[in-house]
Amino acid sequence: MALLRAAIGFLSLLPILSLSLVASVASIALVAMAGGARAQEDAFPNLIPARKQFGFVLKAAPMKPRAIGFYTRGCLAGAEEMPATGDAWQVMRPSRNRAWGHPTLIRYLKWLAREAKAKDGWPGLLIGDLAQPRGGPMLSGHRSHQVGLDADVWLTPMPPRVLTRKERETISATSMLASATRVNRKVWTPAHVRLLKRAVSRPEVERIFVHPAIKKALCEAAGPDKHWLAKIRPFWGHYYHFHVRLRCPPGVAGCRAQAAPPTEPRCDKELAHWFKLLTRKPKAAKKKKKKRKPRPPLTLAGLPKRCAQVLGYDKPPLLRQVAPRGNDIALPIRRPPHS
Ligand SMILES: [Zn+2]
Repeated sequence: MALLRAAIGFLSLLPILSLSLVASVASIALVAMAGGARAQEDAFPNLIPARKQFGFVLKAAPMKPRAIGFYTRGCLAGAEEMPATGDAWQVMRPSRNRAWGHPTLIRYLKWLAREAKAKDGWPGLLIGDLAQPRGGPMLSGHRSHQVGLDADVWLTPMPPRVLTRKERETISATSMLASATRVNRKVWTPAHVRLLKRAVSRPEVERIFVHPAIKKALCEAAGPDKHWLAKIRPFWGHYYHFHVRLRCPPGVAGCRAQAAPPTEPRCDKELAHWFKLLTRKPKAAKKKKKKRKPRPPLTLAGLPKRCAQVLGYDKPPLLRQVAPRGNDIALPIRRPPHS
């Protein structure tokens, strides 16, 4: 087994080789060392990090739509793809192939885009990452976004024209912050407040993550009507985009819910605590860190059992031919042929 692992480690270090060559060498090595197809089948899925298995699949699993597992440990069957361009939205970074979600999420985003355009003076949504075609862990970024119920929406308003593919890959989002504790009033507008209030208004929304300074700006703008702020949760990052998380759709067995968000707006103490964290001097964080062994990567064994079916371990999955932009080249995963 150690030998097998070493072989895989070595193979993943050969980014120059074409993926197909690596694949054939890998399967030969596996057959030779694992002692035949049977052992190979048992070992293969659990030797490869799950992010490398999910990260190369091109299409959704042709199954009934189903969010499986938890937001940070799961996968997605029967995903739907958000159309790249709609009447009130455009999908950004299309090369990542992460515009897939549970149909409930796709329906929600289209609704939000159209409503915000019609009623909130928001020109349209720039849509960031949803999930991969079969959900699961990603090659880069995001711990969550695994079950097709999470979506990032840019806080940059959509320009009044259809962006080219190149623009969608290269345009940068605008930061909403002037400092760690304040939004930048030159870019943060009342329309942002209306958009977020609209976004959180649907019962299928579980919570929305924004930077603490953005939550503060929302608290200030809300006036006495603060009930809608309970589900808007402060979190690190999230000042270029906000992150919508939907609850498990009703009747989806095996979709694990998160502990409920608070029921009060939490505009005071909680935010004060966040600002303390955000403005503390780096010295405090510099304490001698114990060297921790890096956690072994998540494999299929760490995901709900159904995720192996979603990945197509009863059929060879479709593979990406090229690694997504900015990601490491990974060993292509292909189920070896039956012998
Ligand atoms: Zn996100």
